[in-house]
Amino acid sequence: MLPAYNVESFSDFTKPENDASMHAALTKAKSEIGKTYPLVIGGEVIERKDTFTSINPARPAEVVGYFANGTADDADKALAVATETFKTWQYVPVEERARYLLRAAASMRRRKNEFNAYMVLEAGKSWYEAEADTAEAIDFLEFYARQAIRIADESHLLAPYPPEQVGYYNIPLGVGAIIPPWNFPTAIPTGLLAAAIVTGNTVVFKPAEQTTWIGYKVAELFWSVGLPKGVLNFLTGPGEIVGARMVTSPLTRFIGFTGSKDVGLWIYENAAKVQPGQKWLKRAILEMGGKDAVLVDETANLEEAAQGIVAGAFGFQGQKCSAGSRAIIVDSVYEQVEKRVVEIAKELTIGMTDEGNHIKMGPVVDQDAYKKIMDYIEVGTQEGKLLLGGQPLETPTNGYFIPATIFGEVPWDARIAQEEIFGPVLALVKANDFEDGLRIVNSTEYGLTGALFSNDRERLEQARREFHVGNLYLNRKCTGALVGIHPFGGFNMSGTDSKGGGTDYLLQFTQGKSVAERL
Ligand code: NAD
Repeated sequence: MLPAYNVESFSDFTKPENDASMHAALTKAKSEIGKTYPLVIGGEVIERKDTFTSINPARPAEVVGYFANGTADDADKALAVATETFKTWQYVPVEERARYLLRAAASMRRRKNEFNAYMVLEAGKSWYEAEADTAEAIDFLEFYARQAIRIADESHLLAPYPPEQVGYYNIPLGVGAIIPPWNFPTAIPTGLLAAAIVTGNTVVFKPAEQTTWIGYKVAELFWSVGLPKGVLNFLTGPGEIVGARMVTSPLTRFIGFTGSKDVGLWIYENAAKVQPGQKWLKRAILEMGGKDAVLVDETANLEEAAQGIVAGAFGFQGQKCSAGSRAIIVDSVYEQVEKRVVEIAKELTIGMTDEGNHIKMGPVVDQDAYKKIMDYIEVGTQEGKLLLGGQPLETPTNGYFIPATIFGEVPWDARIAQEEIFGPVLALVKANDFEDGLRIVNSTEYGLTGALFSNDRERLEQARREFHVGNLYLNRKCTGALVGIHPFGGFNMSGTDSKGGGTDYLLQFTQGKSVAERL
């Protein structure tokens, strides 16, 4: 029996010792940039001349690493090795598999600032956001280790039946394709990998191109605790080639994906097509986008609401699936809230996050993101009133900096109020009253997170029933889900509601086997 799970605490970087330790980690991480990384299949290191680069978005000329441009053949090879390894890994006792996760958690805890530093450099995270990401990764390891042991044998839940000895076991599925996004580059891959591996599956892992360096560090963490060769195979390269092959291969049994709606829908469709030689129906565990709303009514504590709106909209430059990119405010308090939101957002410092903890916003992740966000800002100027930001921040390094941008009086059905922008752009929408606000909240195709600020008990109850999202928060911000506390995943076009960090999550990586022996 393991001791109870507890969430990881966050380091306080205002303490001089933590500040010094983080600066030291950054110095060390900087000394490691610019190396070339291989594919690792079945423990075999495969070097490639054909590489792509991953850069520091604050200083795009700075290459953090060169990575092998994997091919569809490499994907086939990795899947074949994973298939072979599954023959033995599936029978390793769950307690033993869980121990790999616990060892990885302990190692990551010791190296927390190191992982934070990689994310500051490759993803442009602020220190606080990086710390939250690493802490979440540790939580996934600790939580899934315990959950795997709990669900492996559920025979005790069966009704007694004396003529037979009955059992019920959650056994692994087979080979998984693990395809994460770049925005939680430590936590999401760690969570997906931990869940798949601890339940007895083997995997091929392809990190997002923008954060391949961190992806390699996560894979290396798992290998460093002695995971047998071939359980976790590491592939790099373009999603449309390597990732697509991982999805369509007949060897793949399930796909663990987090990313955009468009890619998620493509995976959903293609995973459903049975390929020649394929013996199973693939399972697709998909976590996709969001257009999350914060609703404020006239009974709310307006200061708390304004603080919550800004924190939810601009944390990690708005590049979170849970980001509250729409604030829907009841008419009678709209002006007050608008004024305060703009004042608070004005205070957000933007710049090179490797300078220190005082910088709250860094760059957006790459040139494509920068262009897409700037295009949406252009759309926003047609659709609403620009209240803050709107112009990129020029830096000598040509970094991809876009300051907090707020549009006021945006119609509820405007593009910037309906489509996921995935950047620091907030649309303020006026609602006639609470009922109208609730209608607007539920008007998008997504249903991931949402928040209501209100002090009206009946409305809080109504929101519990009718605010249709996978993660609803009452009188607090809509970001910052904690593992084991706020199981995370959305409705509608936000995905398959897989609820990462919840007690049911691991069941998606298993199949139930019922056994009865006549006595
Ligand atoms: P993305 O869809 O562009 O890429 C995600 C992954 O898919 C990457 O590893 C990419 O290489 C791969 N990929 C691309 N094309 C592929 C294909 N044809 N076949 C297989 N794999 C392919 O998303 P992104 O830009 O990395 O991440 C941002 C998106 O992720 C946002 O929409 C955000 O809302 C979403 N997200 C959702 C959650 C959630 O829990 N719901 C969490 C984080 C991010």
